[in-house]
Amino acid sequence: LAEKLQNTFSKLKGKGKLSEADVKTALREVRLALLEADVNYKVVKEFVAKIQERAVGEEVFHSLTPGQQVIKIVNEELTTLMGGSQTGLNMSSKPPTVMMMVGLQGAGKTTTSGKLANQLRKKGRRPLLAAADVYRPAAIKQLQVLGEQLEIPVYSLGDKNSPVHIAKGAVEHAKIHGNDTVIIDTAGRLHINADLMNELRDIKETVQPHEILLVVDSMTGQDAVNVSKEFNEQLGVTGVVLTKLDGDTRGGAALSVKAVTGCPIKYAGVGEKLDALEPFHPDRMAGRILGMGDMLSLIEKAEETFDQEKAKQLEQKLRQQQFTLEDFLDQLEQMKSMGPLEDIISMLPGMGNVKQLENLQVDEKELVRTEAIIQSMTAEERRKPEIINGSRKKRIAAGSGARVQDVNKLLKQFSQSKKLMQQYAGAGQGKMAKKMAK
Ligand code: GDP
Ligand code: MG
Repeated sequence: LAEKLQNTFSKLKGKGKLSEADVKTALREVRLALLEADVNYKVVKEFVAKIQERAVGEEVFHSLTPGQQVIKIVNEELTTLMGGSQTGLNMSSKPPTVMMMVGLQGAGKTTTSGKLANQLRKKGRRPLLAAADVYRPAAIKQLQVLGEQLEIPVYSLGDKNSPVHIAKGAVEHAKIHGNDTVIIDTAGRLHINADLMNELRDIKETVQPHEILLVVDSMTGQDAVNVSKEFNEQLGVTGVVLTKLDGDTRGGAALSVKAVTGCPIKYAGVGEKLDALEPFHPDRMAGRILGMGDMLSLIEKAEETFDQEKAKQLEQKLRQQQFTLEDFLDQLEQMKSMGPLEDIISMLPGMGNVKQLENLQVDEKELVRTEAIIQSMTAEERRKPEIINGSRKKRIAAGSGARVQDVNKLLKQFSQSKKLMQQYAGAGQGKMAKKMAK
């Protein structure tokens, strides 16, 4: 979707003035792109009409860069479509806050329960997980394993008790043990049926949850939207968690869920790992869809993982062009703790589909080898890799037990990385400057 829209807008970018026909053509392409991305057709229709209404007015024709104006309008409307601003969780003033995770089988309820508990705990809360999926074999075990990994308590009564009984017991347990949040992991089914809805309604009536979070798989596109609609009508949902957004290249579900159901998307699952859950920001998602990259998410992610001081030093070095092989090694280590490099790169503006980075993957073994190679260099070589000629390469390879081609590969990675990091520093500044100017 991002690519399609980018193409459409790049056609507009070159124009000094925009005619009504240009707007029409652009919007027809936007419409097709959205439909192809599996966005609900009613949503598309309304969306395009809205843009048209705004774009064909004076706003565009009197503007100096009409192409940008259209992008801005589309961006704003996409943001509105996805709910406008970020919606947080309802927290009860009287603990415990009770949250119920609902959704079809395989949507990611159990995983998201763990991720959410993990996030809440990082914010200083004391969550309790409740294992109320008594049907799926090993479902309770799955949650217990997550709980052990995260060191978060899991309440379970085995699979011989009713889910209602378990949910109720968990809330009681939380009250006694001082857990301020209870996250109830419920059972799904392959399809929505009366059985499932009755069970969920029973739990809802018994524990009166403050949040009913519907977990849907974004890769299922329009099905995710239909499922959301159905759950909301039958059960009432306070928020949606869109999972597997990391594998969803079309973005159709993200765009239509809010418009079709009226329920805000509160979180996005972006990977299998337990820290791969992000608060859903409609404006950032819109930016991502438009292919502008998601600098804010990137900065947040970097801030979380990077040593603040080191990051600052690095930035300075980049600006002063003093990024050395030692910094590179440091950076590789930091990157490793930030998750796959591709994830990070894809958030950079204009980097949505950069293929040159495939050989920038960081893995443990490589890191050890890289370290050895860099350690076999002289201080001068580390600062000025351009002096490393053939005979130096041979010496370094021999000293580190690597091959000359490994040394070459490392030097290539370094120069790519340096270029990239310079772009990053530049892009970060530009974006921040724009933000400030707003
Ligand atoms: P449940 O049946 O709804 O409880 O679903 P699970 O929590 O067991 O998840 C089903 C599968 O989806 C598991 O393999 C998870 O690792 C995977 N999964 C869940 N959330 C995400 C996500 O955000 N991204 C990716 N890539 N996989 C996810
Ligand atoms: Mg489950």
